[in-house]
Amino acid sequence: MDIIRNTVRDVPDFPKKGIIFKDITPVLRDARAFRTAIDEIALAFSRKRIDAVLGIEARGFILGAPVAYRLGIGFIPARKKGKLPWKCMTETYDLEYGTDSIQMHEDAVRKGQNILIVDDLLATGGTAAAACRLVEQAGGKVVACAFIVELAFLKGREKLGGREVFSIVKYDAE
Ligand code: AMP
Repeated sequence: MDIIRNTVRDVPDFPKKGIIFKDITPVLRDARAFRTAIDEIALAFSRKRIDAVLGIEARGFILGAPVAYRLGIGFIPARKKGKLPWKCMTETYDLEYGTDSIQMHEDAVRKGQNILIVDDLLATGGTAAAACRLVEQAGGKVVACAFIVELAFLKGREKLGGREVFSIVKYDAE
């Protein structure tokens, strides 16, 4: 998907030395690239039975909400700990140094519901795996995890077990 690949911006040494940050803000800024990204994800799942899209804070909100709108279904925010106002479920995942947690409202996913998880980028897979556990603990089923960018060399798919992974652009090396 050249339009996306050519629009994502590499920012070396952000947020720290040695990391090449894949900046998707130019994709959002470009009407054709933005629409392509949303349509690609929505089209890939338009024939599946999906009850809601769960977006991971913060870039997963920007992408997940229009995907949900396009599919004609609702949107669930998964947020960093302490941001959601009602009763929450929490999942913790490992970072390079330490841990982080994401939360979802207890009543966001009902038993048996099919959920599509959306975020901008799959790196090591820790964040998306935590989002999957939130959905599954609530009794939901993860239909797939969908991303604009997959850093395949970090093997995030492995952390997501057998769950379906969809990505528009894959990078096989840094
Ligand atoms: P991970 O849990 O390692 O798969 O990291 C995924 C989350 O971190 C996503 O929400 C991404 O937005 C962000 N992220 C990790 N690595 C990068 C990177 N190289 N460029 C841009 N975002 C990244």
